[in-house]
Amino acid sequence: MGNKITYDREVALDTLKEVFGFQSFRPNQEEIISHLLNRQDVFAVMPTGGGKSLCYQLPARLMNGTTVVISPLISLMKDQVDAALENGISAAFINSSLTPKETSSIFRSLKSNAFDMLYIAPERFAMPDFLKTLQTVPISLFAIDEAHCISEWGHDFRPDYLSLSHITESFPGVPVAAFTATATQKVQNDIIGKTRLRSPFTIRASFNRHNLFYRVENKRELKTQVLNVLRKYPGEPGIIYRTSRDSVSAMAGMLQDNGIKALPYHAGLTQEERRTNQDAFNRDEVHVIVATIAFGMGIDKSNVRFIIHADLPKNIEGYYQETGRSGRDGEPAECILFFSRGDIPKVRYFIDRTEDQREQAVAKEKLYQVVKYASHNVCRRRQLLEYFGEEYKVDNCKSCDICTGNIEKVDVTIDARKLMSAISRTGQRFGIMHIIDIVTGGNTKRMRELGHDKIKTYGAGRDRDKNHWRFIVDELLAQEIINQDGDRYPLLKITEKGKEVLFGDEKVSALKREEPKKKSRTRQESELRDFDKALFEKLRFLRKSLADQQHVPPFIIFSDRTLHDMCRHYPVTQHEMAEITGVGAAKLDRYGEEFMKEIREYMKKQRVRGVQGSRA
Ligand code: ADP
Ligand code: MG
Repeated sequence: MGNKITYDREVALDTLKEVFGFQSFRPNQEEIISHLLNRQDVFAVMPTGGGKSLCYQLPARLMNGTTVVISPLISLMKDQVDAALENGISAAFINSSLTPKETSSIFRSLKSNAFDMLYIAPERFAMPDFLKTLQTVPISLFAIDEAHCISEWGHDFRPDYLSLSHITESFPGVPVAAFTATATQKVQNDIIGKTRLRSPFTIRASFNRHNLFYRVENKRELKTQVLNVLRKYPGEPGIIYRTSRDSVSAMAGMLQDNGIKALPYHAGLTQEERRTNQDAFNRDEVHVIVATIAFGMGIDKSNVRFIIHADLPKNIEGYYQETGRSGRDGEPAECILFFSRGDIPKVRYFIDRTEDQREQAVAKEKLYQVVKYASHNVCRRRQLLEYFGEEYKVDNCKSCDICTGNIEKVDVTIDARKLMSAISRTGQRFGIMHIIDIVTGGNTKRMRELGHDKIKTYGAGRDRDKNHWRFIVDELLAQEIINQDGDRYPLLKITEKGKEVLFGDEKVSALKREEPKKKSRTRQESELRDFDKALFEKLRFLRKSLADQQHVPPFIIFSDRTLHDMCRHYPVTQHEMAEITGVGAAKLDRYGEEFMKEIREYMKKQRVRGVQGSRA
């Protein structure tokens, strides 16, 4: 083997700073890089935003020869190559979008060792000619991105990936690294087997996304609730997930009517429309994408600040993956689920149509897990991580609604008895709405016809509003004191446990829910969030115009994290600018001056204003 590099920590850290502008490695990056530089195969499961690309980009820069990156999405390749070029890494891609002439020109450059990195789609490996040519090129490393695509057990099997199973045989001296964000143990074994990795160094990173805040709100007036969230993030990118095409279109329209730059995305649009909308989002031309779960694969956009699920997700896997698209840059992002029990039957409807009984049972169990996630007063982060088999020992994650709410328990036994009495006295034959109507003394025709205005509990809970009673119902359901029976028209029933409350002296307590008025942010969150908003607007504008000139998405120039950092430290010298996270030598050279100029001007104006202010 020609290039015997071994891991040198100092060189690696220098390169990290010089090329990528980062001060330190993220968890697991250094271990992975050191093993690759020592020419060992690697298999790594790291969450979205964990920084997988750097694990092969940095070695690509340090090793002799070209690093070949296998990536499934043609649409992403260009962005990835552009991002590498921005950092001063020489890179190119080969895929079906190139002409034969362009392809052969790239091959010529390859042979003369002109590239640090070459991105290719997996189907190339099924082409004997391509393999033959590749064998004449000095290759330093193979990096297989989205490696779960090779496994039939994964959720995104791509037959093209199977042609990668000969890679270690065809290139015996070259280390291979496989990366994915989603792999159960079973999928992991499958990937390692299929790619025939040679005793790989294996990493299973924590799935905890520290910078994501998880929140569940009862879905009441969706429109108002969504607009409230958007008001918190003016002009910042976010994704709203909905289950049906119609609700996607309706909500996108509603947002546009409210002056928000939003576009829809679902499988009913033409491929062209979908691409245009996705591009507009990528380039920060629209801020909000309202989408079905068809949207997401191939979104590497790093500055998504919020994810809203306006309908109930089908399973935790999907929910985790969709929320995972926010905050890739490591800056705070928020994931909000609007939860209504009324959505359960809608999901059930599709599950019940599944032919395979086993599949149906699995889907029901998965749905149950999502409902549990949304309705149990247990740290959301802990629930997510435990679902993926990861132990989470921290008592208070400080970054979900449960942990940041006032975790004070209140006794709700009396309210629980009122509700259950209404359920019992009407023969356990009515649903949530009607029972709440009874308790709050609803004056409806149906009420009178049924004679329910005559029962003892009628109007017994008039002093509280319907939201309060809805909260009590949810709490009793979550604690399995009552349950819902029947799919089409779910009726409330009292469980054995419930009888102890209604007729015995069992007490019920609930977590006291703070109304989200005075929101107390955790220290870490406010530190990360604190930056000069007015300056950020200016720098964002500058970034956008530079991006447009070069036909690349803005986050490729600088990430939000980098701009936020500038808005905290106001760098105005080369040296100060180089200290900003994400500013490497190439970017400092290319953009440093323009950004510093903007910052200087901004500070000058601030000073002028400050003087006038003190005179007045
Ligand atoms: P993944 O592919 O694992 O989802 P990416 O490779 O796209 O994640 O990285 C996510 C973001 O994290 C990118 O914006 C990247 O520049 C940034 N990043 C990666 N490594 C570091 C690091 N050591 N320090 C700071 N930011 C990093
Ligand atoms: Mg990636």
